[in-house]
Amino acid sequence: MSDSEHGDGCIFCKIIAGDIPSQRVYEDESVYAFKDANPKAKIHVLIVPRRHYANVAELAKADPRTLAHIVEVAQSIADQEFHGAYRLIFNSGEDAGQSVFHVHAHVMTGEVLPE
Ligand code: AMP
Ligand code: ZN
Repeated sequence: MSDSEHGDGCIFCKIIAGDIPSQRVYEDESVYAFKDANPKAKIHVLIVPRRHYANVAELAKADPRTLAHIVEVAQSIADQEFHGAYRLIFNSGEDAGQSVFHVHAHVMTGEVLPE
């Protein structure tokens, strides 16, 4: 297994561990949510599973309950911030814009979003 498969050196594993600071929005036993450092919407939150998976397909295969839970957490953030409306994005693969290879849901909400 490669280092990235273990999560060694992974920036989001370090955020979850508290070794890199973040603006926490929500956490529980399986996920951690924090503000994106470069927001693309009024509210832009990243939700990550505490366990390291490289992408959403790996998470879906290994732990579908946590993937479903990420959707629930996204919904509850949007319920609080913007009457339940939100965009949920998983960039998967470098050519699709994924730059951090610890699966993360982008939750964008808090304002009317462009198409
Ligand atoms: P992606 O390009 O889909 O892999 O998304 C990675 C996201 O992580 C980008 O939107 C970055 O702005 C965000 N990001 C990278 N480093 C940090 C950090 N230390 N704290 C918060 N967000 C970060
Ligand atoms: Zn990681």
